Amino acid sequence: MAEKIILTGDRPTGRLHVGHYVGSLRERVRLQNSGEFDKVYIMIADAQALTDNAEHPEKVRKNIIEVALDYLACGLDPAKTTIFVQSMVPQLTELTFYYMNLVTVSRVQRNPTVKTEIKMRNFEASIPVGFFVYPISQAADITAFRATTVPVGEDQMPMLEQCKEIVHKFNSVYGETLTMPEIALPGNDACMRLPGIDGKAKMSKSLGNCIYLSDSPAEVKKKIMSMYTDPDHIRVEDPGKIEGNCVFTYLDAFCRPEHFAKYLPDYQSLDELKAHYQRGGLGDVKVKKFLNKVLEEELEPIRERRHMWEQRIPEVYEILRKGSEVAAAAAAATLHDVRAAMRINYFEDEELMHQPYEPQH
Ligand code: ATP
Ligand code: MG
Repeated sequence: MAEKIILTGDRPTGRLHVGHYVGSLRERVRLQNSGEFDKVYIMIADAQALTDNAEHPEKVRKNIIEVALDYLACGLDPAKTTIFVQSMVPQLTELTFYYMNLVTVSRVQRNPTVKTEIKMRNFEASIPVGFFVYPISQAADITAFRATTVPVGEDQMPMLEQCKEIVHKFNSVYGETLTMPEIALPGNDACMRLPGIDGKAKMSKSLGNCIYLSDSPAEVKKKIMSMYTDPDHIRVEDPGKIEGNCVFTYLDAFCRPEHFAKYLPDYQSLDELKAHYQRGGLGDVKVKKFLNKVLEEELEPIRERRHMWEQRIPEVYEILRKGSEVAAAAAAATLHDVRAAMRINYFEDEELMHQPYEPQH
């Protein structure tokens, strides 16, 4: 049977937030521990982060350790998972260069995530070429490890589509070489794209609307209390909307039935709580306090593990160094096959090197 392999990662542009957690991190830890996968690779995408932070390498540099600490805090286990740094695997850059020939400019321009991100970063007038081609480099990351499964949030769907097209194109031009990956999306809508605490479409490091996994209990509480709800829900007795109301979206992502008995025994389920809010008579503060308890239950153990790893920084860098070596060896093996398929493995071809010279016409 073909191996089952996971590849995914995050950009070291800041500490990780609860959107990463429900969108991908929680699922990665579950898959890692499921025993269903032969290999799990998790990448800190520093080269990708530089595509829109070229002038701020310090930002990328200091966030490598933050992301690594968040990984370990959430339960990614270096004994089961290879955690590595993208730029330490130069084969990925080489693969990107070859794949660029298989994709058109207009195809990248049509990528909806690229479109949104160009707007978000005010790149309309001058897009760095490296940023523009990052979907292609993501295809290199995924295929270099022969990944079969890519657990990510919804914003990554167009990237996976683009990657599959590249795999298809490569295999049809050069012969069956690359593995076709599948996306693994979170189970519910709230987790696919967790909104920011300001109610904006997506919680994102770049938008500063995040609850970070490493926030203190006081910070988390303050953020929850300031969270965007229904602006028309002014008095407790007013009927409230739950669509676009972050507090309820977060409950969709985090709340489990047992939380009610524990923290809000007047209600049996989230549906009941929602119905009361919609009817009127339920205040925002009560729901926010409940959300705070639910979130704390999840965040407290993560915070504790993080504090433990924060005392062991040299060990964390060593995990990344070793992981990067393992990753580079795996990527080199794929690249070897890619070069052979593309017929650019000249010096391995004894026949080529020893055939008598014949002038070409
Ligand atoms: P940046 O603003 O630098 O792009 P980001 O917050 O978007 O940072 P990424 O490193 O780009 O984070 O994303 C890492 C992973 O987390 C991806 O799989 C992405 O789909 C997922 N993810 C990011 N934000 C969310 C979110 N708000 N909800 C669900 N998943 C998310
Ligand atoms: Mg992003």
